[in-house]
Amino acid sequence: MQTIAVRTERRSQLIDITREVREAVAGSGSGAAVLVYVPHTTAAVTINEHINPELLDDLADGMERVVGDSWPWRHDDADGPNGPSHLRSSLVGIHVIVPLQGDGTLALGTYQGIFLCEFDGPRDRVVHVCVLQ
Ligand code: ZN
Repeated sequence: MQTIAVRTERRSQLIDITREVREAVAGSGSGAAVLVYVPHTTAAVTINEHINPELLDDLADGMERVVGDSWPWRHDDADGPNGPSHLRSSLVGIHVIVPLQGDGTLALGTYQGIFLCEFDGPRDRVVHVCVLQ
């Protein structure tokens, strides 16, 4: 397993980690697929279009509309009343699996990239990358 460190800058933000995942896979030997996983409860991982940076802001803003901050949340912990951040994390999910091609590279489509989704930033985050046999 390799670990990528990411410093996020805003409360809700998608950060392209495709290059970092490729580098982690290149140093991990051969396998059938790669698991990209975040050990967090207010962040997530997704695959989406990496061509247009404005889309990333649209997706981050969209998640804030899908899950409303003004809903009657009960949850409050050391990080404050961040119930919406937890729900956004669960809706997107904390992992993706990407098949590896015969040459060991990621089988991503032309328009696809891998993104860390921050829903309670800014924070220091980590992403674990595990090549699956
Ligand atoms: Zn919380």
